[in-house]
Amino acid sequence: MAQRALLFRRPDEPPAIRVVFDGETFRIKVRKMRQARRYTLRVQHTTREVILTMPVRGDLEHAADFAKRHGGWIAARLGRLPDAVPFEPGAEIPIRGVVHRISHRPGARGTVWTEESSAGRPLICVAGDAEHLTRRLTDWLKREAKADLERASRRYAAELGVTIKRVTVRDQATRWGSCSSSGCLSYSWRLIFAPRSVLAYLAAHEVSHLVEMNHSRRFWRLVEKLDPDMDKAKAWLRGHGAELHRYGAA
Ligand SMILES: [Zn+2]
Repeated sequence: MAQRALLFRRPDEPPAIRVVFDGETFRIKVRKMRQARRYTLRVQHTTREVILTMPVRGDLEHAADFAKRHGGWIAARLGRLPDAVPFEPGAEIPIRGVVHRISHRPGARGTVWTEESSAGRPLICVAGDAEHLTRRLTDWLKREAKADLERASRRYAAELGVTIKRVTVRDQATRWGSCSSSGCLSYSWRLIFAPRSVLAYLAAHEVSHLVEMNHSRRFWRLVEKLDPDMDKAKAWLRGHGAELHRYGAA
């Protein structure tokens, strides 16, 4: 769950500090929180961010000191995370669970498309300048994610006889989907990397909330009716969910 807190930051204070430890530079986000009694560090495994929480009246120099003393801990925590896979030519990313190799086609017409390749991996091709590759590919993946999630959500909604108002996709660090009582569904666009069955499960889950706004037994029975394989998808997310945050990360 995301921590909700008021931010206390004077305009002249940087939102992040840099700490050098063992020749490595760590960027650390600083959060002043009213309820913080001491300095604490955590590594958000989904976004790979290092976050330092400190009392409102604490000072940044002390914060930097504190972070430096815990440099070994930060390095170990980050080291345990799977490596990031930036979007660049030759990188391999899963699309709907199938690994594709990124192929840059600067001179080609079009924007982003997939191609079968005779040797090995299917390709995800991106036209245009290299500097726009990440944005173009991210935009395309978000559109594909939205289309898939919208289709699955509407199919399940029809099965349950409920109405969806809107489907949106975002980059959510802490959850894969959410649902409002007014019928707005929101999902992480990163589900496009997961196998189709996982994306379908998330849609079944959120649509079921339109009937049961809770996680009761009744709710889970409803999800299972829409998606009899939900346990497999849940297990997949537990085992591989964090990996979906590797791709395109800075
Ligand atoms: Zn839920």
